[in-house]
Amino acid sequence: MNVEAILRAKGNAVATIPSGTTVAAAVRELKARGIGALVVSDDGRTPAGILSERDIVHAVAEHGAAVLTMTADRLMTRRVVTCRPEDTVSELMARMTERRFRHLPVVKDGVLCGIISIGDLVKSRIEEVEFEADSLRHFIAG
Ligand code: AMP
Repeated sequence: MNVEAILRAKGNAVATIPSGTTVAAAVRELKARGIGALVVSDDGRTPAGILSERDIVHAVAEHGAAVLTMTADRLMTRRVVTCRPEDTVSELMARMTERRFRHLPVVKDGVLCGIISIGDLVKSRIEEVEFEADSLRHFIAG
């Protein structure tokens, strides 16, 4: 299974915010969409950074409520690790485990075309394992 197959089922939508978005607005966006990270992008096509709930929690621990009026570009991680549609689920699981994050924006020809979360990878892996188990059961019962 690869990223392209996951996106075929999940769609290509990516929640982005402009770099000048306040943290208060970003938090509202995370809640409204039920997600854990936003790609920061001024044109909605090229990632300039990624802002996850963990960045916000860490900043609150450091600065308290003043964080709410800060802008996304102060808190975001600037060096965004991305993946490509042809990357496989096992490659991405290894990358996320090694780098200790749970989101990978998908980029094709320099343009954002989706996002993969750790939840998407776990779901895809479970489906694959269940399919294999079913096939084996049918083979044995055969
Ligand atoms: P997460 O586990 O995705 O909530 O993020 C944990 C930390 O890694 C936060 O500081 C994020 O900004 C950062 N992060 C998340 N995804 C990426 C990514 N694809 N590339 C670089 N940093 C990331």
